[in-house]
Amino acid sequence: MTAAADATGKDENTIEQVAIIGSGPAGWTAAIYAARANLNPVVFVGVPKQDPGPILPGGQLMLTTEVENYPGFPDGVTGPDMMSRFQQQAERFGTRVVGDDVVSCDFSSRPFSFTTSSGTTVRAHSIIIATGATANWLNQENEQRLARSGGGVSACAVCDGALPVFRDQPLGVVGGGDTAMEEAMYLTKFASTVYIIHRRDELRASKSMQDRVLQHPKAEVLWNKTIDEVIGEEKITGVRLKDTKTGETSDLDLKGLFLAIGHTPASGFLKGTGVELDDAGYVQMPVPHQSNTTVDGIFVAGDVADATYRQAITAAGMGCKAAIDCERWLADQGIE
Ligand code: NAP
Repeated sequence: MTAAADATGKDENTIEQVAIIGSGPAGWTAAIYAARANLNPVVFVGVPKQDPGPILPGGQLMLTTEVENYPGFPDGVTGPDMMSRFQQQAERFGTRVVGDDVVSCDFSSRPFSFTTSSGTTVRAHSIIIATGATANWLNQENEQRLARSGGGVSACAVCDGALPVFRDQPLGVVGGGDTAMEEAMYLTKFASTVYIIHRRDELRASKSMQDRVLQHPKAEVLWNKTIDEVIGEEKITGVRLKDTKTGETSDLDLKGLFLAIGHTPASGFLKGTGVELDDAGYVQMPVPHQSNTTVDGIFVAGDVADATYRQAITAAGMGCKAAIDCERWLADQGIE
């Protein structure tokens, strides 16, 4: 990722036509469409941080090794390479890139304004929010190291589970919600056994999802267990489990571990702005099939508004929709 250190390249009286906040597949796709529509977009890519899991310019794909399910890449592509290509394509059409976080927003009047981490105040006629969601992690040292190095620890079974390294191997899924059940079912296609490691003696997932997993011959729930340690040097070889009732520890051999303990949408900076969030912090989209938020002129794309699909391709599709909705809205306002 490259990012201009300076702000938008314009003076303080400038009003941007569209500012895009976030630089995953949703943000870059919105930028490509907006740039090609002559909206001269500026993308705020954010500053890398640990909060509590890694938050990176480029989004969750920066933590992914091989992406094999994005159409157009028959031989696969790494997540960082893919995001670099998205950025290059956006910049080819004139997108400006700023390496700042957005820290506070004032959407109470138009043009909208927001302040960035470098202290710049940006004014914009329209905004596309594409800040994504971060997977929740256990935040253990070995877990994080092996997740970053492609060592068999992942927070997305649908993204990584089909890799050859996991075929006919014992795999673990952490969590007891619907995502954990879905990921466990997906992994039964490849694994020898899928162990669902859950901290309680009752699953949170819906009854129907639970039943599918509990009846599956390749799935086994390990009740009342937390992970004390992820074991392995270059690749995961197992986990040390701790029984939440007895405190006893035991080792389990695994060739892959998939975290499914929820996601946190990166929407904290929107609190109090009028952009409505649900209880979990996902941005609400009041108009079916469109990318409008509850503030006229502010649009949304990608995982920050999507608790269900969370795929690069769906985020990119939402970015495209947001740019088209935004372009039409600006035209309706007479802002050219
Ligand atoms: P979730 O419902 O919040 O479940 C998270 C699970 O992770 C819970 O079982 C929780 O345990 C466990 N957990 C949380 N922190 C943990 C930690 N530090 N250590 C160990 N375990 C931990 O999240 P989700 O499954 O991602 O689902 C999010 C939303 O999307 C839900 O509303 C869900 O219904 C929906 N969803 C729906 C579908 C579908 O309908 N097809 C599919 C996926 C998701 P506890 O149970 O003990 O709290």
